[in-house]
Amino acid sequence: MKDAIAALAARIDQAQSMVCFTGAGISTESGIPDFRSPGTGLWSRMRPIPFREFLTSPQRRRESWQRRFQGDRQMDQAEPNRGHRVIARWIREGRCDSVITQNVDGLHQASGIPVDKVVELHGNATYAHCLDCGNRVELTELEAQFAAQGDVEACGHCGGIIKTATISFGQPMPEQPMRRAQQLTATCDLFLVAGSSLSVYPAAAFPEEAGRGGARLAIINREATHLDGAADLVVHGELGDVLEAVAAQLG
Ligand code: NAD
Ligand code: ZN
Repeated sequence: MKDAIAALAARIDQAQSMVCFTGAGISTESGIPDFRSPGTGLWSRMRPIPFREFLTSPQRRRESWQRRFQGDRQMDQAEPNRGHRVIARWIREGRCDSVITQNVDGLHQASGIPVDKVVELHGNATYAHCLDCGNRVELTELEAQFAAQGDVEACGHCGGIIKTATISFGQPMPEQPMRRAQQLTATCDLFLVAGSSLSVYPAAAFPEEAGRGGARLAIINREATHLDGAADLVVHGELGDVLEAVAAQLG
């Protein structure tokens, strides 16, 4: 472990242009469960609602709001943790260009990273918007509607369906973040994955592409991923511990 941390610190120090790529694992220390950790992962407890079902079924929409307002409350109280803070520091210091994230919890922004340096591939669950006109709506307003009427109202501007600003399974990927992630992947020389099972596509294609494009690929995760064999460096451990130790070596 000590050697792996020294090796990762050296890779980061040598890099001209590093990109971090994060998944649910970076936020578990903040109390937000990930998807696939055995037993505790959300996946094993609740099947996600696919986009089509959300669009076509008012009942599935209500179920989705119920989950958001009753189940997924950890996200509302969560604070950035050591791992988020180390990445924020690397961005501030110019060691890392941007963070590409699959997370929807907004904790990278909360850790002080400028909004334009956080590329959200799966959107953001801390606010909602109209699927037709894009009108942003705050969750506090929707929660009050849901408590009073058992449902969320249609868009006040155009009558469209309101949804959290996340990308659900089956929903088209957001164009601009996808373009930025592609650019960052093509131009970086170190691609650092932190806390992702790398099983959700197309997001997981970015580390594959980075490796193929000649960048070094480093992975920090508690458990093995299918890309471990293709990576230049793999550190299996707790993200907070590993990132803190690497940051300490870099000074
Ligand atoms: P995932 O749950 O599939 O994988 C998380 C990985 O992180 C696992 O391999 C796990 O072993 C590892 N991990 C968990 N805690 C860790 C820790 N403290 N230290 C080191 N490793 C740790 O997550 P994913 O790859 O991001 O894909 C899941 C999808 O679920 C994403 O699309 C994401 O949008 C969504 N999601 C997001 C959040 C969030 O925003 N915080 C939470 C749950 C799910
Ligand atoms: Zn609208």
